[in-house]
Amino acid sequence: MRLLIIEDEKRLAQTLADLLQRQGYAADLCYDGQTGLDNALSGIYDLVLLDAMLPGLDGFSLLQQLRGSGCGVPVLMLTARSDVSDRVRGLDSGADYYLTKPFEPEELLACVRLLLRRGEGELRTDDVLRCGDLRLEPGSFLLCCGERSVRLSRKEYDLMELFMRHHKQILTKEQLLNRVWGYDSEAEDNNVEVYISFLRRKLTHLHSTVKIKTVRLVGYGLEVTAP
Ligand code: CA
Repeated sequence: MRLLIIEDEKRLAQTLADLLQRQGYAADLCYDGQTGLDNALSGIYDLVLLDAMLPGLDGFSLLQQLRGSGCGVPVLMLTARSDVSDRVRGLDSGADYYLTKPFEPEELLACVRLLLRRGEGELRTDDVLRCGDLRLEPGSFLLCCGERSVRLSRKEYDLMELFMRHHKQILTKEQLLNRVWGYDSEAEDNNVEVYISFLRRKLTHLHSTVKIKTVRLVGYGLEVTAP
C-alpha cells in the first residue's frame, strides 16, 4: 500500500509519514500543491492525504483537478480549520473523508484503514488478504498457507500484496517498480526479478498451489489453481 502525503508543514508531514510507515504502509511526501497533483495523478497511490491550505495550488483546487482528470484515488483531507463550510467545500470537491487538525494518530489510522478498505472492495476481510490457499497478514508480514507460514521482507510483502489484490491481472515490471519501489527510485528491472525469485521460493516452501507466472515480454501475474 503506497500513500501520498501532500502537506506543506514539513514536520507534520514527516510525523505522518513515520506513523504510516510504522504501520507497514509506504509513504511519499510532497510539500506543495502542484507537485502533489502531479504525483497524485501518477496512479501509483492507494490513498492521498491532502492538506487544505497549500502554497501554489490549494488543496480544494488540487482535488477538483484530480477528480476532473478522472482520478478516483481515495482522498483524506486534513485541515486546521474546522468551519462547516470548509468541510462541505472539501467533500464537494471530491474528498472521501475530512479530518480537522489536531487529530489523534489513532483517529488518522482508523480513517486510513477505512478508506483503503473502501478503495479495494471485496478482497479484504479483517485486513487479511486471501487468494487461493494463501493468506497475507499485514500486521505481521506473514504469508500463510494452511498450517505453514513464512515472514516476508518489506519489499516481498508489497509485491505479494500487489499480486493478490490484482490476481486476475498481469502486472508489468514498470507497474511493479513504480508501486513497490516508488516513482523516482533508482531500482531497476532486475530488482523485480530478484524479488520474484525470493517469493517463488517462499511459495514453494509453503506448498501453495498459487504460483507467480511469467508472461514473456509482458510481466507477471498469479496463477491460482484450486487446492
Ligand atoms: Ca498547510
